[in-house]
Amino acid sequence: MARYPLVLCWLRRDLRLSDHAALYRALKAAERVVPVFVFDRGILDSLPRQDRRVEFIWETVAALKAELQAEGRDLLVRHASAVTEIPRLARELGAAAVYANHDYEPAAIARDAEVKTALADAGIAFHSYKDQVIFEQDEVLTQAGRFFTVFTPYKNAWLKKLEPFYLQSYPVEKYRDGLARRTPEAMPSLESLGFERTDLAGIGVKTGSEGASALFEDFHDRIDRYHDARDFPGVKGVSYLSVHLRFGTVSIRSLARYAYQKATAGSMSWLSELIWRDFYQQILWHRPDVVAHAFKPEYEALPFPNDPALFAAWCEGRTGYPLVDAAMRQLNRTGFMHNRLRMVAASFLVKDLLIDWRWGERYFAEKLLDFDLSANNGGWQWAASTGCDAQPYFRIFNPVTQSEKFDPQGRFIRKYLPVLAKLPDKYIHSPWTAPDDVLAAAGVRLGENYPRPIVQHGVARMEALERYGAVKGTKAKSAD
Ligand code: FAD
Repeated sequence: MARYPLVLCWLRRDLRLSDHAALYRALKAAERVVPVFVFDRGILDSLPRQDRRVEFIWETVAALKAELQAEGRDLLVRHASAVTEIPRLARELGAAAVYANHDYEPAAIARDAEVKTALADAGIAFHSYKDQVIFEQDEVLTQAGRFFTVFTPYKNAWLKKLEPFYLQSYPVEKYRDGLARRTPEAMPSLESLGFERTDLAGIGVKTGSEGASALFEDFHDRIDRYHDARDFPGVKGVSYLSVHLRFGTVSIRSLARYAYQKATAGSMSWLSELIWRDFYQQILWHRPDVVAHAFKPEYEALPFPNDPALFAAWCEGRTGYPLVDAAMRQLNRTGFMHNRLRMVAASFLVKDLLIDWRWGERYFAEKLLDFDLSANNGGWQWAASTGCDAQPYFRIFNPVTQSEKFDPQGRFIRKYLPVLAKLPDKYIHSPWTAPDDVLAAAGVRLGENYPRPIVQHGVARMEALERYGAVKGTKAKSAD
């Protein structure tokens, strides 16, 4: 088949040059491939001037550009609206086609449709490929041909369908000569994009594929213990790779292959988490309405009082429940929150403070470095019991027992709430139960340097049960 003389490869949430589906296809199909990244005004213009994610992307793009320039090639970087810039650039360079990887978020699907139409008007093709998941869209269906809404059967069908083919990497390096040689263009500064430096380096986040490789290597020694350690936020038990999966500085195939081939209890448990990621991506693709609505429509009627003062206390880590407060402070300080804590903090917001899950979802979306629409929405709807395969509504996390179970010595709490650091283990989870002399010896003054609980869990829980029960048309069930 005749090859295209020149094509563009448009990088988006796949910021790497290895094992990259679109880049591989472009290199196979064309004599010369010009990679391009657009800092999309359509997304960036509404963001605060300091945004760790923008800096993460900027650092990563700058590193890719430098790598290519060292070989006499280049990554074109533009600051514009992608829907107009990609067709414009393709025309300017005389590209016959634009290659990209699938993105399953509704806004991205709409953007890509617009780009495709504009390209077609100019006689330019648009080709896109699966890259960021192992199985997408309709690839894993029930026997009745429907998409799965329950995780365990989805996971079983996913594993059944898995063959080495799906885990193979795309050998981009074999065809790297096809990357066009170009006169180098300067990398636009972060400031010229309208952004300022953040504390990204200070909080220890390493960007780009190098950052991802370093984290993954570090995780190699721990993956076999993942299933035992993953729930304890005070222990280094998880991989911390989520931001790299979000921006594609690591290939999902390389991670899933490693876990699958290792086949230990720990690695298979970690693979399960990667499957959750695919699961929520396919939910979003099949049910894009979940972005604004409950997956289970009956829960749209839930009456949330939405007290702004309670919401502010939650956001700022001032609820008086140490595990929740430490979690929120971790989020505010580092842009990361441990998975167990995401579940506890989300449940607390919805079922103790009776605040609409969408408020919390939005707050996480602003703060999380790894923010991913499908996983965040899935996680929030799970915690709020409004989602597919969600926590049943009558299961309400007790923030004190969760704390005793998953942070028994309060290691995590002490780190993020130094004001409580001197409390004995026995009281660290519920300082209001400590005798006055214990509080005084630890320097804790309730209501002054650490809040009293803003709600009583037992009371709030009953109210949540009533409200959920009313919507479900059932009587509130007894304690869980
Ligand atoms: P590991 O435990 O090492 O897991 C490996 C990878 O598997 C993760 O990096 C992630 O890509 C994927 N993964 C793990 N758990 C889940 C899950 N429950 N759903 C989907 N994918 C998962 N994850 C995000 O990537 N972005 C989000 O915006 C996000 N928001 C969440 C909100 C709530 C309320 C909840 C309960 C969970 C959310 N998660 C989100 C899922 C999970 O908490 C994070 O993926 C995980 O904490 C990231 O840390 P890690 O990379 O060390 O995870």
